[in-house]
Amino acid sequence: MKINIAGVINCDGAKLNVEKEAVIGSFEFAGNEYSFENPVRVTGEIRNIGSALKIALKVEGEYTSYCDRCGCEVAASISGEAEENITGEAVEIDSEMFVLNGHVLDISGAVESLVYSSLPMRNLCSDDCKGLCSKCGTDLNKSECNCDTTRYDPRFAIFRKLAGNGEV
Ligand SMILES: [Zn+2]
Ligand SMILES: [Zn+2]
Repeated sequence: MKINIAGVINCDGAKLNVEKEAVIGSFEFAGNEYSFENPVRVTGEIRNIGSALKIALKVEGEYTSYCDRCGCEVAASISGEAEENITGEAVEIDSEMFVLNGHVLDISGAVESLVYSSLPMRNLCSDDCKGLCSKCGTDLNKSECNCDTTRYDPRFAIFRKLAGNGEV
């Protein structure tokens, strides 16, 4: 994503508003699949503060992913911000986030890294999602199954025996 900054690069105090859209699409990250159906919104400003160019960016978007526990689709949104000063004297700057080549500033790296760093650690359809039965795969949010997934504490086995509960 390239921005022509000819209007601010040599002009103390000049400011350029950023208002763009970035197509992200689908990708896999940390074992989950993310799908950005619509482009993410990239807003911010580039300001010449004399000694440097001050870049402030904000990335916002909506995505769908899958619940870590039950696998159903989860819709959520991201929002991330970054601020960086790059020195205006240099003709070429390469950083992971910004590449300045002449009067053209490429912010693709910054947008990409803001998207990744804004993704949540977990995707859950709800905080109390019960997930799937580890034995039969039944979605425990929708129905119950008859699997015995109880783990008895062996210390209490003697009481079950006394209660006439049979096998230990
Ligand atoms: Zn779930
Ligand atoms: Zn089950």
